[in-house]
Amino acid sequence: MASVQLHHVWKRYPHSSQAVVKDVHLEIADKEFVVFVGPSGCGKSTTLRMIAGLEDISEGDISIGGEVVNDLPPKSRDIAMVFQNYALYPNLSVFENMAFGLRLRKVGKADIDTAVKRASRTLDIEPFLNRKPRQLSGGQRQRVALGRAIVRSPKVFLMDEPLSNLDAKLRVHMRAEIIRLHRDLETTFVYVTHDQTEAMTMGTRIVVMKDGVVQQVDTPERVYNRP
Ligand code: ADP
Ligand code: ADP
Repeated sequence: MASVQLHHVWKRYPHSSQAVVKDVHLEIADKEFVVFVGPSGCGKSTTLRMIAGLEDISEGDISIGGEVVNDLPPKSRDIAMVFQNYALYPNLSVFENMAFGLRLRKVGKADIDTAVKRASRTLDIEPFLNRKPRQLSGGQRQRVALGRAIVRSPKVFLMDEPLSNLDAKLRVHMRAEIIRLHRDLETTFVYVTHDQTEAMTMGTRIVVMKDGVVQQVDTPERVYNRP
């Protein structure tokens, strides 16, 4: 069970008076693909980072799989996060980048090998396992970042504008790949973008944010008035 609940969640950054996330109250069901959309600065990324445990919650509660995680560090949450800038370790090979989170959790060598190989097949990055990130194209780096996320079989995937550094053609391709991953992995995806096309084509449900507030939560069809 990997629902994500945000219970009246607020965020104020230190040294700023204004809240940037205001009373967000929302339940994301197990296996949903929820897309947070809205203009730059509206609080999408902060919301995602609070689910990940990368930012403290100022007020409210966040639960993952029914458990309140407010005080749990990121590595104790059953989540994986993919970032816009890929955030790969530049000095580690692709294999080691993918293995890193498993080593941190003391997974045995044979199991790491199996998991990395399987994930690299899924994402078609087997030929690059010995390369360093700088020896890869942008699209390949993003695949490695996705691979690093799926290798741990987390219950919840958090993605923060993962495609915005890719060119238009690759973006369309990777959109389809991520939709396929969601279908195959049968896990919960929470995805942040400012791109309406991405939101509309990928999400099973859209959360529209503005100025820190959730304005609308609905199907893509209803949010974008499509049949
Ligand atoms: P979005 O992801 O929708 O672009 P963010 O969540 O990144 O929005 O930012 C929401 C607001 O919080 C913005 O006004 C941003 O400037 C501010 N903000 C983001 N990170 C910090 C931080 N570390 N310290 C202070 N303010 C921040
Ligand atoms: P893109 O146009 O998508 O950014 P690149 O021009 O960076 O792609 O790379 C094209 C191909 O060359 C890719 O298959 C990539 O893996 C390979 N490549 C790029 N840089 C290196 C490198 N330094 N060493 C080995 N292969 C590389």
